[in-house]
Amino acid sequence: MKLFEIFGIKIKINYTLIPIWIISIYYQYFFELIIVMMIIMIHELAHSFASAYYGIEVLEIELFPFGGVARTESFFEVDPFKEIIISIVGPSSNYIMLLLAIIIQSYIKLQIDLIYFFIFTNLTIGLFNMLPILPLDGGRILRAYINSKVGFKKATMIMIKISKILSLLLFFTSIHLGIRREEYFFLCGIAIYLFIKANKEKEVIGYTFIYHVVMKKKQLLDKGFMEVKHLTALESIHINKVFHEFSSNKYHFITVINPKGKVLGNLSESEILDANIKYNNKLTLGELIEVLEK
Ligand SMILES: [Zn+2]
Repeated sequence: MKLFEIFGIKIKINYTLIPIWIISIYYQYFFELIIVMMIIMIHELAHSFASAYYGIEVLEIELFPFGGVARTESFFEVDPFKEIIISIVGPSSNYIMLLLAIIIQSYIKLQIDLIYFFIFTNLTIGLFNMLPILPLDGGRILRAYINSKVGFKKATMIMIKISKILSLLLFFTSIHLGIRREEYFFLCGIAIYLFIKANKEKEVIGYTFIYHVVMKKKQLLDKGFMEVKHLTALESIHINKVFHEFSSNKYHFITVINPKGKVLGNLSESEILDANIKYNNKLTLGELIEVLEK
């Protein structure tokens, strides 16, 4: 449901929020709800502005009961450094709001509960989003970092494992806390949600990977140059295996050797990518060199 538009970005609310709105009005927590929504919206706008700065257009922001999602024309950034910046500005906006509130409060010396609520909510959202769990900001930052070392696919696989373990940990911790104070039980729901979301990242690896490769070409054409990563691989390795070792911000060259260590030839990333499309993953590196030599 569309609420309004700001800087050309549609602000929508998810329908699951409607019953929560009604309950909060009934229990007279309406202002608290408005504050939470506003904080989440500013957090998402911060991501959106950072994306726009890097030329990724943000189409809409949808607000959910426990957070928001900024939908961009492309769903993530290819360059790990840019992805880290885009991710980090969200929680940073919470820390800035928190500091401003503390400063203003210390000058005006108002003892308003809503100000404490504002500070507490910013602290919670700012810290929670920095958990290294996908798809939270902290998870994206860590994935971008690992991506720059071992490639996107491996980084995502590692992050899925970390995210599942941490969300299980969060689940059991919230049960443990919930036994004493039942408010903590709502954390169980969030933990389950995060576990499911982390598992879903597996499905997107396939097409996000192709997307990465296409975006890399664009990045190379825009910039005109790119850092190189050199790999050495055995002739018996299939091209799709090497393909998944590629980092998204580097251009790769592969030296192909036989088991005795003799160099059979060199392949560029573009040659591997073309072969991947043309021969549908079936070739080994040794076979590809033979095909190209013909
Ligand atoms: Zn965020």
